[in-house]
Amino acid sequence: MNFHIITIFPHIFDSYINESIIKLAREKSLVNIKTYYLREWTEDRHKKVDDTPYGGGAGMLIKIEPLYKAITEIKKNIIGKKTYTILLSAKGKTWTQQEAKKYSEQFSDVILICGRYEGVDERIKYLIDEEVSIGDYVLTGGEIGALTVIDSVSRLLPDVLGNNNSSVSESHSEEGILEYPQYTRPEVFEINGEKHAVPEVLLSGNHKKIEEWRENNKKAKK
Ligand code: SAM
Repeated sequence: MNFHIITIFPHIFDSYINESIIKLAREKSLVNIKTYYLREWTEDRHKKVDDTPYGGGAGMLIKIEPLYKAITEIKKNIIGKKTYTILLSAKGKTWTQQEAKKYSEQFSDVILICGRYEGVDERIKYLIDEEVSIGDYVLTGGEIGALTVIDSVSRLLPDVLGNNNSSVSESHSEEGILEYPQYTRPEVFEINGEKHAVPEVLLSGNHKKIEEWRENNKKAKK
């Protein structure tokens, strides 16, 4: 799967995509992540990508021209079969595990546009498929949202996780249901003078009972 990120801060991505699971997935070419520096699609000496909003008001908006040029050129070079273009936006549809699953199954290329400042010229809507919000709060830019989408989609792709089953029975894989509690060594651990033991059934070796316990200890999301 190919992710194409349009941003004015491409280096934000450097450390995250060069560690752990995403790094391995990129090394195996299961996931390709490319950043595009929006200022490269400007004409002026200062490489200006923003301007003041019509009607006045605080802050600056990302202009439509460089975005139009960037998206057009990126799309021209995509050879994958199904491209989806999203704008990260506090006004977008809230990102969920179900959306991540849909993306992992349906798209070969995802173009992620990271807004900054006060946002993006509204006419971006003619160039995108969807606006995606990662939650009901406002971030300074779309980059953390882009990483959220990339990470949550990537780990659902075949062979990205060490064990493909790891992502099958996790929190949210069934809508509104959270994973059962998990424990590892030691069997008993003392915190503030109180001993906390691992539930006995998990030490029993009885797989049927363990499954039952896990099923009964899943919680509904609040
Ligand atoms: N003025 C905008 C509003 O009220 O909706 C907020 C702009 S925000 C400061 C700058 C950029 O951060 C946005 O264009 C968007 O790309 C990104 N952003 C902010 N909050 C986000 C969220 N919850 N999910 C995804 N992207 C977000």
